[in-house]
Amino acid sequence: MAKSWYPVIDYCSCIECGTCVSFCPHGVYDKDKAPSPVVVSPERCIDHCHGCGNKCPVGAINYVGDDTGWIPPNGEKGETESVPCCCGEAGENDAKVVLIQYLYLDLSTCDRCIGADAVLEEVLLTISPALETAGYHTKLEKVEISSEELAKEYRFLASPTIRVNGQDICESVQENACGCCSEISGTDVTCRTFAYKGQTYEVPPKAMLAEQILKTALGWESSGCGCGDYALPENLKNFFAGKTAKDSYCCGGNCR
Ligand code: SF4
Ligand code: SF4
Repeated sequence: MAKSWYPVIDYCSCIECGTCVSFCPHGVYDKDKAPSPVVVSPERCIDHCHGCGNKCPVGAINYVGDDTGWIPPNGEKGETESVPCCCGEAGENDAKVVLIQYLYLDLSTCDRCIGADAVLEEVLLTISPALETAGYHTKLEKVEISSEELAKEYRFLASPTIRVNGQDICESVQENACGCCSEISGTDVTCRTFAYKGQTYEVPPKAMLAEQILKTALGWESSGCGCGDYALPENLKNFFAGKTAKDSYCCGGNCR
């Protein structure tokens, strides 16, 4: 899947002030070309972030995949909603969309991914009306991380992962052996566990999910953003390599 959100510069309007290049903390722009804005790593742009676009003094930045109604505000904060980049600057209106991302390896046979998906859906059914009443609009995005490329694009560390406005709801990655994903890949694979009130769960409890989503969405708690250096974990490399090998072995790659 191609990256579906990144900035596009209107070079006819751009005055090459370099604001966007210096503002973005994610290395989307090529710093060596500053002050000219050259998008060199679109895959590092944070979905629904309008950080650089909100800073551009001439409204020269738009975003591929933007269906939010956001309008380039010429350096002033716009009236429309946007999800903040977790490392960027969030304005008053920016906190009004709660983007929940569910990233997983397999929803057809993996008990852990299927279980977490079902709990997440149930929790959102319960808390979304309350968030709407408080003026927050929830958006759920599910992504099957089906390749190393996608894992890198989403800076995926462990399956399943739940992020709220770019922040992982878990403070750290804890894993144990996952029979389902080991079976899928034909190799020993670990998947995520969730720690809550002194216990460890393979499927997050409803209370934990509701608590963490509300805390993160309403800004009561930051579990830290996942925007630092990223390296694909060996565990995931083994999963994708094993899955590819198993798929090609079982049918010569011709059965799809
Ligand atoms: S939208 Fe956010 S993450 Fe993307 S390039 Fe601009 S500041 Fe960086
Ligand atoms: S902030 Fe706007 S005008 Fe300045 S370099 Fe970036 S795109 Fe060009």
